[in-house]
Amino acid sequence: MFVGHYGPSFAAKGMRKSIPLWVLFIAVQLLDVFWSIFVLLGIEKVRIVPGITATNPLDLYYMPYTHSLIGAMLWALGAALVYYLWRRADGWAAAMFVGAAVFSHWVLDVVVHRPDMPLYGNSLKIGLGLWNYPAPAFVLEIAVLFSGMYFYLKTTQSTTRVGRYGMVIFGLAMLVVESIVFFGPPLSSDKAAAVTALFWYFVFAGVAHWLEGKRVPRTVGQGNIAASAGLQHASRAKIL
Ligand SMILES: [Zn+2]
Repeated sequence: MFVGHYGPSFAAKGMRKSIPLWVLFIAVQLLDVFWSIFVLLGIEKVRIVPGITATNPLDLYYMPYTHSLIGAMLWALGAALVYYLWRRADGWAAAMFVGAAVFSHWVLDVVVHRPDMPLYGNSLKIGLGLWNYPAPAFVLEIAVLFSGMYFYLKTTQSTTRVGRYGMVIFGLAMLVVESIVFFGPPLSSDKAAAVTALFWYFVFAGVAHWLEGKRVPRTVGQGNIAASAGLQHASRAKIL
């Protein structure tokens, strides 16, 4: 799974507005970010085997540190702890959301991967193999991405025209990137796959960071942003 992973990041942002969206964008891809780095360093291994799945040619035969069940749990716990220490004011609940976002990656990967997701170390591998059915796999990505985004859009309101249309256009742009990566010319090497993934994950997180500044939490009736800002200002003044 590629852009579908961002569904949970939008959903988490809808539920916990204090967490920066770009943090959740990195969180849901954290396992792949480290997978890319580990592949480039030769710690984890992938080889290109055309036809191994109907959607992509990745033979992910060794990724015990990032994509095992135990590994994913440890990355999720670690991310929650780092977030808590970094943004203590957000509290443990927000940190747990970040951890859950990290773990959601593993759950969604199990649905699409062939049985290459180990439970522990490099053994007991599972995977439902939806990648062998390109159309349903693509529809699932779209459904997960846009249902998360829909919830986020329902719980926030735009402050500018870019804020109003930007996220949906961004979502469509992500689908275009996914189509090119998945249905375009096959990746040439393991390192190319890792660099491509890493590049897009940080580009997407950067765009998410830019766009989230154009929307604010929906605190009062729709369209009453000035009053909302005034209320927030007043309550802050009272606290100070
Ligand atoms: Zn993955």
